[in-house]
Amino acid sequence: DPAQPRASRQRFVADLSQCLFDFVVQLLPTVEELAVKEDVRKLLERLIRTIEPDSRLLSFGSTANGFSLRNSDMDLCCLIDSEERLSATDLVTMLGDLLERETKFHVKPLPHARIPIVKLSLDPSPALPLGIACDIGFENRLALENTRLLYCYAVIDPARVRTLVLFLKVWSKRRKINSPYKGTLSSYGYVLLVIYFLVHVKNPPVLPNLQQMPPMRPISHDDTHIGGYNTWFFDDVELLRQRWQSANTDSVGHLLIDFFKYFSRDFLYNTGVASIRAGLLKKESKGWQNDLDPARYKDARERNRFCIEDPLETDFNVARCVTSDGLYTIRGEFMRASRILSTRPERAIYAIAQLCE
Ligand code: ATP
Ligand code: MG
Repeated sequence: DPAQPRASRQRFVADLSQCLFDFVVQLLPTVEELAVKEDVRKLLERLIRTIEPDSRLLSFGSTANGFSLRNSDMDLCCLIDSEERLSATDLVTMLGDLLERETKFHVKPLPHARIPIVKLSLDPSPALPLGIACDIGFENRLALENTRLLYCYAVIDPARVRTLVLFLKVWSKRRKINSPYKGTLSSYGYVLLVIYFLVHVKNPPVLPNLQQMPPMRPISHDDTHIGGYNTWFFDDVELLRQRWQSANTDSVGHLLIDFFKYFSRDFLYNTGVASIRAGLLKKESKGWQNDLDPARYKDARERNRFCIEDPLETDFNVARCVTSDGLYTIRGEFMRASRILSTRPERAIYAIAQLCE
């Protein structure tokens, strides 16, 4: 609205940035929560080692990528360093039995799932008022690497990147558009959208492209490939922190407004693929188009409404669960958010409350 004085808009955006920091800070996990989770990881690792002595249990997902909210679930991955090991299916079954006998967790082994996992949960207690939910998977090395990639992005510019991502996570949960099982997008998908926006849409970029930076030393093919996928990215966090200085000085509030604007009216949902590795790609170039003959390609059409390329597993569409209804709802929410922020309520705090209603 050009009639609105510039000064008032600037005040709103500055106020919004401060409110976003304050809002997100209260939602961070407490020190106690992190300590309990680390204890749980160690306990589970000890138990798993009674079955597979050469195993390690590592955190991935939000507990390890720097984008964790209070009471988020724990994603754990078991790596086994010995040559002869049990199959994931057998391990899931054995570990399920063991945990049932030895711990207070509710245990649900899923040995025949596409990715076999053991699901655990712990009832609420005084130390953990909301209990714990935890999934243990096996040999998911790509997930460990994409977690490390997100972590590196989080630490380059934590004030802006973490605040934006955490806000988007809370917002998407409160607006109920964070359920891949119900046709909307996973947290992982929203994190990728934010990073894509900061690397490829903002100009000058807020973040460098870690997968396209020149390596500091020669790298060998074997060290940088997992299952045929190139997993190399620039991961010298200390150096990045010292050297990377973005020419973009937009505040968090400004970036949030632009993010919603971009995904409500500019992103090419019908033809585009958001890739943090390569920028905006075409569905066609990945064979992900949704205008194929509906009789023959019904499944492909349904799976590729919304396309977000996994940064490492590049033939995998992270948004494949998003249905056409789901995408309609998500886009509607981007538009609603954009509208709320452009009407600029009297105080930014009201805008945030309204956004997350
Ligand atoms: P939350 O705090 O909501 O649990 P999260 O960061 O743990 O958020 P999830 O969506 O639970 O995000 O995903 C956890 C991890 O699992 C991701 O970091 C990623 O490694 C992996 N992952 C999840 N969804 C996918 C997907 N569709 N494709 C590939 N990997 C995924
Ligand atoms: Mg998680």
